[in-house]
Amino acid sequence: MSIHSQDDLFGFADRPEPPPDPKAIAAAASREKLRLVHARLCKEYGCPVAYFHELSPLDELVSSLLSHRTRNSESGAAYKELRARFPDWTAVRDAPVGEVQDAIKTCNWPEQKAPRIQQILRLVTERRGGELSLDFLGDLSVRAARDWLEELPGVGPKTSAAVLIFSGLRRRALPVDSHHHRVAQRLGLIPMSLDVGPAHAVLEAMLPDEWDAQTVYDDHEILMFHGQRCCYYRGPECARCLLLDLCPDGQKRLEGKAAPRASSSK
Ligand code: SF4
Repeated sequence: MSIHSQDDLFGFADRPEPPPDPKAIAAAASREKLRLVHARLCKEYGCPVAYFHELSPLDELVSSLLSHRTRNSESGAAYKELRARFPDWTAVRDAPVGEVQDAIKTCNWPEQKAPRIQQILRLVTERRGGELSLDFLGDLSVRAARDWLEELPGVGPKTSAAVLIFSGLRRRALPVDSHHHRVAQRLGLIPMSLDVGPAHAVLEAMLPDEWDAQTVYDDHEILMFHGQRCCYYRGPECARCLLLDLCPDGQKRLEGKAAPRASSSK
């Protein structure tokens, strides 16, 4: 029996190549599209984008908690007031809750945020054996640091990513705010039905491996800028959008077809 006939016998001769994994192909296509989007938006808005502040990771965590569903100017004022009234986070942790609530009254829901911030400060102290600091997160892998943070009440993927990348740690983590989420949905990088929480993992998996923390930060900022300056929640200005040829949703809107609405909040 020839080798060929043996191969035929065992079914090896004409064995087809394994079919390509559609998920892997889709992921690679999305990554390439993300690169194109990133390059155009960087040209438009200017990269590298300057970091807007340099806080410690614990400062950043409190700042992020204050910013939930609150305008930046209002949460910024609340953060400043908190820092002005209390000498350090230990004093905030141990103060009567009403005093903390009064200090942060410019942000939304101070009556919920004050006890939550104090609870978190107590939990950090406990979990760190008496030390009220998150500087140790810089010694962990990004995944381990995010898991540690996400065990705290009210801390989800957006906050854990914000602590790692916006603080002085400058780690490679991608926060996704409502603007970033909406633009990614409309561009078809993620499904319209994908909520902002689970969108973090999908968009993060799409990041090219060679992008460093600054590039990941730029990516978040420029997608957010685009949502604020062109791809508005209501009435996106698709006709002047530099991403129109990459955007199925924008093309449908201009053709006058009913486009599915992005599920993210305003
Ligand atoms: S084409 Fe329209 S929907 Fe698409 S990203 Fe631009 S502004 Fe948004």
